[in-house]
Amino acid sequence: MRRTPDLGHRKWGELARLAERLNMFGRGAGPADPEEQDRYTAWRIIEEIVSSKSLAHAAEQFTALAAAHPIRLEVHMGRATRESKKTEPLPVLAIPLDEMGFALDRLWRSYFHGRGWTRLKQCPICQTWFVDPTSDKRKERCSVPCTNRWWSYRKRKEAGYSRFKKGAHHGTKGR
Ligand SMILES: [Zn+2]
Repeated sequence: MRRTPDLGHRKWGELARLAERLNMFGRGAGPADPEEQDRYTAWRIIEEIVSSKSLAHAAEQFTALAAAHPIRLEVHMGRATRESKKTEPLPVLAIPLDEMGFALDRLWRSYFHGRGWTRLKQCPICQTWFVDPTSDKRKERCSVPCTNRWWSYRKRKEAGYSRFKKGAHHGTKGR
């Protein structure tokens, strides 16, 4: 198995948190807790975006949604640091406080801006979202147990296939 460098983990930390949210509140996360309905709604939509068949479609969906959750430019008067004595104008980007605004900000930063789309993946065995930190970005499953399951599935499939081929030799049609 490929070793994951420490640096890689820190570097992709924000994308890893995005994956965590998808696993906690996305479509595979089970029934929505009514108290946390906003979170489930937001992350299920985000999961649809990152599961899009094409990046162009993902970008289109993101842009349409983001228009409804704009980030504002604001200037507040305050102290720039804990140590500073006097107040001064502090320019900030005001991100919407609702979960959807927060989720869109996360998606913009780590998925589109940070090229996370090349590394955020969903395990085909257990549907868990994970970050592929490898340099060649070819990790396909989330963990060793899932890779083991995938191998045994493949073996069974191959066994089935060879049986079919033998049958086909005798002119049997259909699967
Ligand atoms: Zn898995």
